Amino acid sequence: MTQARLASCIPLPLEHKVLVTVIEKAKDWALMHGVGMRDKKHFTKDAIQIAPFVLLPSPFPRTEFNKAIELQPILNELMHKVAHDDDFLEHTLQNTLQVDEFTAKLFEIWVKVKDEGITQSLSLGLFRSDYLLQYPEGNKIKQVEFNTVASSFGAISSNLPDMSRYILRQLGHGDLIKNMPENRALSGLCSGIIEAYDLFGVPSAIVLFVVEEVSYNICDQRFHEFEISEKRPDIMIYRKTLNEIFEETTLNDKKQLMLEGYPVAVVYYRSGYEPAQYPSSKEWDARLRVERSSAVKCPSIHYQLAGTKKVQQALAAPGALEQFVRAELCARVRDIFTGLYSLDFDESGERAVDMALEDAERFVLKPQREGGGNNLYGADVRAALLRMRRARERAAYVLMERIVPPTVAGYVVRPGGAVPPPVTDLVSELGIFGVIIGTRDKIYCNRQAGHMLRTKLADANEGGVAAGLGALDSPYLLDA
Ligand code: ADP
Ligand code: MG
Repeated sequence: MTQARLASCIPLPLEHKVLVTVIEKAKDWALMHGVGMRDKKHFTKDAIQIAPFVLLPSPFPRTEFNKAIELQPILNELMHKVAHDDDFLEHTLQNTLQVDEFTAKLFEIWVKVKDEGITQSLSLGLFRSDYLLQYPEGNKIKQVEFNTVASSFGAISSNLPDMSRYILRQLGHGDLIKNMPENRALSGLCSGIIEAYDLFGVPSAIVLFVVEEVSYNICDQRFHEFEISEKRPDIMIYRKTLNEIFEETTLNDKKQLMLEGYPVAVVYYRSGYEPAQYPSSKEWDARLRVERSSAVKCPSIHYQLAGTKKVQQALAAPGALEQFVRAELCARVRDIFTGLYSLDFDESGERAVDMALEDAERFVLKPQREGGGNNLYGADVRAALLRMRRARERAAYVLMERIVPPTVAGYVVRPGGAVPPPVTDLVSELGIFGVIIGTRDKIYCNRQAGHMLRTKLADANEGGVAAGLGALDSPYLLDA
């Protein structure tokens, strides 16, 4: 199928000299406002370089953008309920657990903590629901995935509309700024952490960010710390790896997680979502200790389990949504789902395998992983299914219909990239952030909290920004 093209917000290409000049300004704006990351090749803590970004805001239909925003509290609540439905989680994940060690380990912790008795019934969710526009269905949003752990780029993305506005003004197009929505993701996400902190209710308590050994995406993370510190000077934030948490924390007799003599109120994971982040049993022990503690976890382990692709697929199955979402809202939620199929060893699993082998280009094969770079596309889907057809391993994957988004022409500015860059065909993925705090029985807060747009080359399968493939962007809303 040919992809439709959306018009860029101003006609391209730009004249060479204008382009070179505006890129130089844009790069400095980016560096001086933290639209940056650490250099993976020449790592130093003393410098950041620009994060890849799209020079001009990419078009996105206004009605679809608003739809995604309005749906977010409904999706937050859906995921919250799924996470608290023990039977649904257990039933949905049972086959996956046999073949996916990582999900099984998370599940094991969940069971252990439940059996011991949950110390902290509150959970904090800083979620992000991701969408591509489905061109064959009239550029309607379709959900790519729902992130319940370490949903990133809310902070940097909050600066992007200002950057785009600056660039548009430099190009003499200040009149277009009115089509750029505000983005208050950083403030919204940090308010969630602060509200959870206050619900914990211990004055000397601290907030703990769980971080990787090396944080390349440092700006995005630090902005949260700066924002919380500004809003609430009384809250101290610590950054620790899972290994450091193992070495430096204890549980006291009240099951408080203690670090340097202070109880931890909120644990915010920016790591811990992929196997490589648990290189030894120490990291798993640390995760268990945190989960056992009275700290409010973002996410608690059942939120993380609810965010697996397997659960996403199960929710798309007939009748599943109705268990969690009010009848009058079901159609709206179902409308954003695209075809998702289990590969379990049963009749529907076999049908899914046959369907994918017939036309592999129509599908994406997804394992239970986060962080980008794990999915299979096209010929690889076919090869993998042929290889796994009779292997138990198959159940670790879900099959998803491939979404075909419209393209737009644009310039991607990259650290060390050519200046000026060529005009390239791009596609954008919208993420809407959500905040929820609640227990099994009571929801204390539930709201949408801003957005991110990330854009990749149209012919690339994936576009993770931290993985170096995608570029930060902001939406330019189009009226029909
Ligand atoms: P991850 O947890 O690794 O981010 P995703 O489900 O978000 O997993 O997939 C990664 C990327 O792959 C997405 O950002 C998107 O670019 C692409 N992708 C995922 N699912 C689809 C799909 N159904 N159709 C088209 N592209 C997809
Ligand atoms: Mg993703």
